[in-house]
Amino acid sequence: MVVAKKIVLLGTGGTIAGTSSVAGANTGYTAGQIGVDQLIAAIPQLKDVGAGELVAEQIAQIDSKDMTHSIWLRLARRCAQYMADPDVRGIVITHGTDTLEETAWFLQQVLHPAKPIVLCSAMRPATALAPDGPQNLLDSVIVAHEPTASGVLCVAAGEIHGAREVSKVHPLRLHAFSSGEVGPMGWVEDGRVRWARDRVPLAPVDTTGALARTLPESDEWPEVEIVVSHAGAGGAVVRALVAQGVDGIVVAATGNASVHDALGEALDEAVKADVVVRIASRCPLGRPLPAADARWPDAGGLNPMKARVSLLLDLIDGDRQEQVED
Ligand code: ASP
Repeated sequence: MVVAKKIVLLGTGGTIAGTSSVAGANTGYTAGQIGVDQLIAAIPQLKDVGAGELVAEQIAQIDSKDMTHSIWLRLARRCAQYMADPDVRGIVITHGTDTLEETAWFLQQVLHPAKPIVLCSAMRPATALAPDGPQNLLDSVIVAHEPTASGVLCVAAGEIHGAREVSKVHPLRLHAFSSGEVGPMGWVEDGRVRWARDRVPLAPVDTTGALARTLPESDEWPEVEIVVSHAGAGGAVVRALVAQGVDGIVVAATGNASVHDALGEALDEAVKADVVVRIASRCPLGRPLPAADARWPDAGGLNPMKARVSLLLDLIDGDRQEQVED
C-alpha cells in the first residue's frame, strides 16, 4: 500500500507572514507580507517531518480582518481539489488569527474533510525578536502528517483545537485561542501529537468537498449580518438592514439568548419581511438552552460569527433547493 505523504501549504497572509520596520517589534507591523515559500524556507526542520513532499501555493496575502467571501470560495475549491488527490495527506493553511475561527467553521461546513486541514497562525510577526510562527508552522505540519488527525483544526501555541469550539480570546497573548469549556482536542509536544484524554478523534464522514465544489460565485451569496443586543438597544440597525435587502440576521443576544424588547420588535418585522433570523449568545462559554416557545430559532450553540457562516450556507442551500423545485 502506498502511504499518502504530500502536505499542501496554502498561504493567505496574516501576522505569521507579517513584517515590521521596527526591529523586533511585536505590534505595529503589517500583516501578509511574506510568501508561504519564504515561511517554509525559514524552517529547515520541516524537511524532517514525515518523508513527503511539501507543496506550497499562495491563495491570498491579506490581514485576516479583511477576509472576503471570494477568498473563502477560492480556498474551499483548492482544498477540495487537493483533498481529492490520493497522494495528499493533509493541508496546512497559514492564516491571520482575527477571523481564523470563521474560516475554520466555513471550511469544516463545506468540506467535512476526513483528512486534516490545519489552520496555522501566529500572534507575532516574522520579524519579532521571538516570533511564534515558525514553531506553529512546524507543529501544524506535524498534525497534518498525523495519521489519526482529521477535520478542520487550529494549531497554535502547542494546542490543537476543533473548528466548532475554537475562538480567539486574547488580542496579544501567544496563547490567543481557546476551546472554552471543552478545552483543546490535543497538544503537540516535542514533535508528537497527544490527544486529550488519549482519545483519538473520530474521523468525520468525508463528503469529499461536495458542497465546496457546488457553491455559487461569491457575488451571488446571500447577505447575512450580525446585530448585537445590548443595554439601550433599538431597532434602527435591523430596520436599515431590512430596507437594504438583507437576507439573514444573526443576533448576538444577551445571556440565555435574550433580546432587548426594542430590538425584538424590529426582528419580528424583519421576519415578516422574509428575513431569516437566528439567535446566538454573546456569552463566550456554555450554550443557551432555547425555550420551547422561542420567538426565533437559535444557532445551536455557535458563537455569533460562526452562526453567521452557518446561516449563510443554509440560505445558499435553500436557494439551491428552490432552483431545483422551480
Ligand atoms: N490582524 C492579523 C490577522 O488576522 C492578526 C494575526 O494574524 O494575528 O491577519
